[in-house]
Amino acid sequence: MASPLNPWPLPPANPNSPYYNIVRCDKFISELIVPDFAFVWNPVTLTIKIRYSLNFVDSRTKSHNPEEAWTFLEGYAGTYYEGHYARDSNEEYFKMDDWDFNSQRTFARKFKDGQAFWDRKFMLTTPDEYSGFDYQLLDDVKNNTSWRPNVLCRFELISVPNKNDIKMWNSWSHDSDNPGVHLRLDVVKTRGKKYNGTTGSFRSHSLLYNYDDVDEYTIWHELGHALGQDHIQALLGNGACIMGDGNAGPCYVTPEGMEPNVMGSGKGLLDLNAIPWVELIQHHTKTIGAKWEVTQNTVMPPRKIPGVVPKKPVVPLPAAVAPQSNLPDVFDPTRT
Ligand SMILES: [Zn+2]
Repeated sequence: MASPLNPWPLPPANPNSPYYNIVRCDKFISELIVPDFAFVWNPVTLTIKIRYSLNFVDSRTKSHNPEEAWTFLEGYAGTYYEGHYARDSNEEYFKMDDWDFNSQRTFARKFKDGQAFWDRKFMLTTPDEYSGFDYQLLDDVKNNTSWRPNVLCRFELISVPNKNDIKMWNSWSHDSDNPGVHLRLDVVKTRGKKYNGTTGSFRSHSLLYNYDDVDEYTIWHELGHALGQDHIQALLGNGACIMGDGNAGPCYVTPEGMEPNVMGSGKGLLDLNAIPWVELIQHHTKTIGAKWEVTQNTVMPPRKIPGVVPKKPVVPLPAAVAPQSNLPDVFDPTRT
């Protein structure tokens, strides 16, 4: 008798599976894994992997990105702003404290924890016309039916040791031994003191974080940017936020009646927030993204399909085939 978790007699697993398909770009790696008999507990997964490094900037450590002016104001001995300062996205200079091991470790742990917010939140419904994941169990062969599983959207942050090697900036590679780093973050520790003695709050952006930006809402929002998402009004199609100043206050406003969105000022998720996975599934399957419906029901089981649709295999793409222009622009340091 079948157990509740394993209700069907499964044919023996194929030792050569699961099917594995990978798309690389300079923003992230996208991996599609198709098990032979994908079901709720063993789904087809599309995993976006971001390899990141954290560079804790202080008086002893230089920025990842010295060609950008936004990190340092060199101190001038003898003046009232002697010391080390970080420039925020409002171009204000804030005094930096030095990091210690414990505060670095806390930041790193909280950053990594941000992964959970975006992992396993969406499922893509495999369209009627796509049969690449279909399979048959023993009974299906008799009954002339198949199963069509859906795709679980996964997210993984992978920490890469920071060698502080500026030549690696923006570099990427197809070499699996050296796949490069997708997201190089500078992290500063400022506590609201500006160079001129006044106070304010440090305004981070997507490549320069303050020590307290790993508190939940902020890190979830920033990782949304790292996944290529713009602010909620832009996601909803508001032209002023797409073409104009995407950081303007109204671009963060979620329409009434919806939970404030993570790409605004809250933690709500809409199906629209699945856009990075929807865009990537196109590259893996050579289909049109709009055909893949999004659901937040991440345990939606495969559906029964009458007959056997001639199998369209998952398209194995050679590395770097993904057209970069169609992928989200992650490295927009103006996003706050
Ligand atoms: Zn933002």
